[in-house]
Amino acid sequence: MTHAGTTEGLPSFSHGVHPEEHKGATESLPIERMPFVSHYVLPLAQHIGRPSKCIVRPGQHVQRGERIADPNGFVSTALHAPVTGTVEAVELRPHPNGKLAESIVIAIDAFASQEMQEPQKPEGGAGGPNGSSRIDGFVRRVQEAGIVGLGGAAFPSHVKLQVPEGKKVTTVVLNGCECEPYLTCDHRVMLEDADKVVRGMRLIMQQLGAAHGYIGVERNKSDAIETLRAALSQNDSQNDSQKGSIEIIALQVKYPQGAEKMLIDAVLHERVPAGGLPLDLEIVVHNVATASAIADMVENDTPLIERVITVTGDGVRRPANVVVPLGTPIAAVLEHCGGLKPEARQVILGGPMMGVAQKELDVPVVKGTSGILALTQPQRVVGEQPCIRCGRCLDACPMFLNPARLAQLVRNERAEGLLSHHVMSCFECASCSFVCPSHIPLVHLIRVGKAMARKVAVP
Ligand code: SF4
Ligand code: SF4
Repeated sequence: MTHAGTTEGLPSFSHGVHPEEHKGATESLPIERMPFVSHYVLPLAQHIGRPSKCIVRPGQHVQRGERIADPNGFVSTALHAPVTGTVEAVELRPHPNGKLAESIVIAIDAFASQEMQEPQKPEGGAGGPNGSSRIDGFVRRVQEAGIVGLGGAAFPSHVKLQVPEGKKVTTVVLNGCECEPYLTCDHRVMLEDADKVVRGMRLIMQQLGAAHGYIGVERNKSDAIETLRAALSQNDSQNDSQKGSIEIIALQVKYPQGAEKMLIDAVLHERVPAGGLPLDLEIVVHNVATASAIADMVENDTPLIERVITVTGDGVRRPANVVVPLGTPIAAVLEHCGGLKPEARQVILGGPMMGVAQKELDVPVVKGTSGILALTQPQRVVGEQPCIRCGRCLDACPMFLNPARLAQLVRNERAEGLLSHHVMSCFECASCSFVCPSHIPLVHLIRVGKAMARKVAVP
């Protein structure tokens, strides 16, 4: 297959955009630890799939690391107490997705040690009727440790560690691109925990029976590339009998290179067919921070109760990379970082391209929160102009869609036409909106179009 994006001597994928990076404020700041606060709010829906099933009740004392919710089916994960304390309520609370969600509220025990509890042994019913009997021990452990993709999508990781009947996996690709502007948490994980990322990669490859491993890292993180290569060679020299090769691939800087299909194109020069999955090419993709979390689970029996996030933007006083217990209110994280400047106008969870703007600051950090971005100039405030048919959105779309045409079909309420123009292939990367000189809210319109198309496809 020809590979279009190899300018500057480094590989990449076709199309995509080059937003300003804005990573300078935090890329060289070591990860710091967020102090404990008085209350934690744990929504049961923190991953793609069915929300976890609450197993605690108000008044119950829980210990840091104790399971507080079970997986509810195969595409679902467990949830654990991030602190030792008392369950104060199980009730609806604001979720970062803008809706109210059933959540477990824990009041910290100020006098208890916040040491991790001895891990619980897996129990029979934890995987639920849809999955527990057909998944192997390692997959079950990852599910019960509550590990999800930490790149932002929060897809339950164990699902991508189980090879379906009749399929095989030859190649694992780790995403170390962190292509969203501003975010530097994966960069710091690769620098500070490179050996753990490599050990996690080995575990993933072993589990899937994959002979080839690649870690794709954009060249604006050359220190991480060097550190990972050093960790890899040390790991290789300590384990002569290890099966499978791992290579660190330096990539061009381009958005949205961290998306699975784009990363596969960039690293392996292969294209996942429209409507297909990486598995169709015998490939599985995980995030570098996820690999580190898997190594932690195996080596230290640690469930996912905290994560590294980047707090940044010109609206926050002290930008930082911080490891934060899940459930911490974002207001408390911002306060830890010196608070918002008076001129801050917008707070976004995630990066500026795919992140979600927040109305309130009382929502918690969840498993998919990669950053808190505070801006003095709100995104997308410029008035919309008519389409000038410049074609820039077509050139930008990494899925080879026609965003201008899709937007027109949405405005004319042509749901059938949206389906025939492959609207469901859009993964809402916002590259089209970013390049549009007429400031047409393309990704917003296409999101509406996907909802319209879903109604037609599933009446
Ligand atoms: S149409 Fe979808 S996939 Fe294509 S650039 Fe726009 S948001 Fe990204
Ligand atoms: S980028 Fe904007 S103005 Fe240009 S063709 Fe696309 S929708 Fe029209």
